[in-house]
Amino acid sequence: RDKGVVQWKYATCGYCSTGCAMEVGLDADGKAVTTRGVADAPVNRGKLCIKGITEAGILNASGRGTEPLLRAHSYDPWQSVDWNTALDRTAAQFQRIQDKYGRDAVAVVSTGQILTEEFYTLGKLVRGVIGTNNYDGNTTLCMASAVSGYKRSFGSDGPPGCYDDFSHTDCLLAFGSNLPEQHPVIYWRLKEALEQRRFPIIVVDPRVTMFAQFADIHLPITPGTDLVLLNSLCHVILEEGLADEDYIAAHTNGREDFAALVAEYDPGMAATITGIDEDTIRHVARLYAGAGAAMSIWTMGINQSTHGSDGVCAINNLNLITGNIGKPGGTSLSITGQCNAMGTREWSSCSGLPGYRALENPAHREQVGSFWGVDPAFFPEQRGRFMTDIFPAIESGQIKALWLVATNPMTSMPNTGRIRKTLEKLEFCVVQDAYADVEATQYAHVYFPASVWAEKDGCFTNTERRVNRVTPVSAPLGNSRPDLWIFNQLAKRWEQGRRMRFPESASEVFEEMKALSVGTGANGQPRMLDISGMSHDKILAQRGIQWPMRDGDETGTPRLYADGVFQFADGKAKLLALPWADNNEKPDSDFPFWLNSGRVVEHFHTRTRTGKVGNCNKFSPTAYMEMNPDAARELGVENMQYVRLVSRRGDAIVLAQLTQRVPRNMIFVPFHFHDCVNRVSLGLLDPHSRQPAFKQAAVRIERV
Ligand code: SF4
Repeated sequence: RDKGVVQWKYATCGYCSTGCAMEVGLDADGKAVTTRGVADAPVNRGKLCIKGITEAGILNASGRGTEPLLRAHSYDPWQSVDWNTALDRTAAQFQRIQDKYGRDAVAVVSTGQILTEEFYTLGKLVRGVIGTNNYDGNTTLCMASAVSGYKRSFGSDGPPGCYDDFSHTDCLLAFGSNLPEQHPVIYWRLKEALEQRRFPIIVVDPRVTMFAQFADIHLPITPGTDLVLLNSLCHVILEEGLADEDYIAAHTNGREDFAALVAEYDPGMAATITGIDEDTIRHVARLYAGAGAAMSIWTMGINQSTHGSDGVCAINNLNLITGNIGKPGGTSLSITGQCNAMGTREWSSCSGLPGYRALENPAHREQVGSFWGVDPAFFPEQRGRFMTDIFPAIESGQIKALWLVATNPMTSMPNTGRIRKTLEKLEFCVVQDAYADVEATQYAHVYFPASVWAEKDGCFTNTERRVNRVTPVSAPLGNSRPDLWIFNQLAKRWEQGRRMRFPESASEVFEEMKALSVGTGANGQPRMLDISGMSHDKILAQRGIQWPMRDGDETGTPRLYADGVFQFADGKAKLLALPWADNNEKPDSDFPFWLNSGRVVEHFHTRTRTGKVGNCNKFSPTAYMEMNPDAARELGVENMQYVRLVSRRGDAIVLAQLTQRVPRNMIFVPFHFHDCVNRVSLGLLDPHSRQPAFKQAAVRIERV
């Protein structure tokens, strides 16, 4: 429909990690009125999903913050102030609290939503100026287990594969990933590949998701037992001589201990734990090992678990023993969540220092310190608390001030009743967000109105390591400012910040990141995350470039580890022995249902944007829970009846939708809605990644 568009400007979608390239249509007044996919973009080839199609609506959505706000107490009314007043107050309060309680009494929790240049600058500010080690992103709620697993198996974070692998694979194994709803355009890429040639799709998921309905084989696994299944698949592959022993010998360490461990996971035993019968486990193992190229993808079904990191390593084990890393169609590909979860992993310094450098490595501290003009001794020698440990530290009084950047823990964290009480304990809280009505502002003393998505300039990195551009299609709304500007202005409030260089434009920041990206990795090869061959202009011209792209390269790199050289010092990957522990909260007589949560296609995260946008909200206006009709009959619950969902943490009122998609002992609730599923979730933590097990908790249903 003609919406009076007179000009189109380039952007990358600001919702999920698929990384769809789009153009934003502007009317004669310069107002963004619509979007369309970019036909020659390598990721989406003109396609967008419902969120991308309606994305122009977020720029002028209700609730946008247009002025900085200030108040002395969280119960006082807000007062509009100028930027200098808000920034001065924030810097003074951080400095007062650090002087009184120590540097780590201030915590910073960011996001996967802002631009990479902004992440880099925030990291520089936090690590090089403010100096707290309590710094993390909300990616700990979604991708931390993938990061941890990649590091433990391959020596570095970084998804090895790409979407083009769908066009080369002979077998796809998906764990806890509902592509059609979570990543609709990746799903379209998969369907497009299947139109060229058939290959089996195996979906492991306790729920009959849309992806499970599409699969050739659906494995309705018992929640929390994926590690048992993976160990058992490896058991069969080794037992039946189906492994690629040449690849194992040349490119891995640890075979002996790994083989001894998986020997304990015969399919008969695994069947009793996973609920997947022995013959099916053997069949899937043979299918996977017998494929010329096989690939595994996963999302939150693996990551959000008490053994999420081990689950990722187990997927890597499966691919290493079958020689399926770094070859077309053979890979281990985490499907990331947020539009720039990768950007924060790469450059924000949350887990270390920029460019996949580690705080624990003295050479890395020295490199970054001398590059920034910061004494390396100023950096901590190990990473500090994860997001999920920051909130308990607020509760115990060790952290007194919190700066939230584009994240909404009041809806996204497990057990939000506890989070509410935790935030009330803060001496000082800053919320920086494009939307002033985000729930966490209830507890804030300062609100920074940030510009949103295509009001800003910079890059996102998608699931397949493709760096793509966002250009400023319209001016910041009201007196909101780009996050980059806010970080730079805040840096000037510290003496150390005034001594350091904080470039003002995104392209200058990108050039600085490029200079820091070069060097030699632990394996003696050039650093893996090398972007020195990229520039903002080249990225725009190629509609996105996959790193690494080194100076002199014409294009990016579709696959990592194609040469079989990994990021450990000896260049070999690790086969890890990963025993399964039965350590979840499980259904019992008081709370007889497994609680599962996930996305719906219309919404993104906590609905700060999609909850206000046309069709997204019209098509999915309210929370609901899926319940099996047989279980409902026993409890006298009717379709479309409100019920109370109860756990040991709290309760929530939800609309029941009766469906065979969930087994008799499971309840599924979308996680997007405030005061809903996370009032009851538990969130036990993975010991490696500190990611919460959102999908494994026990609940009961009460009629209301
Ligand atoms: Fe945006 Fe993801 Fe939809 Fe693409 S698939 S349009 S990146 S939300």
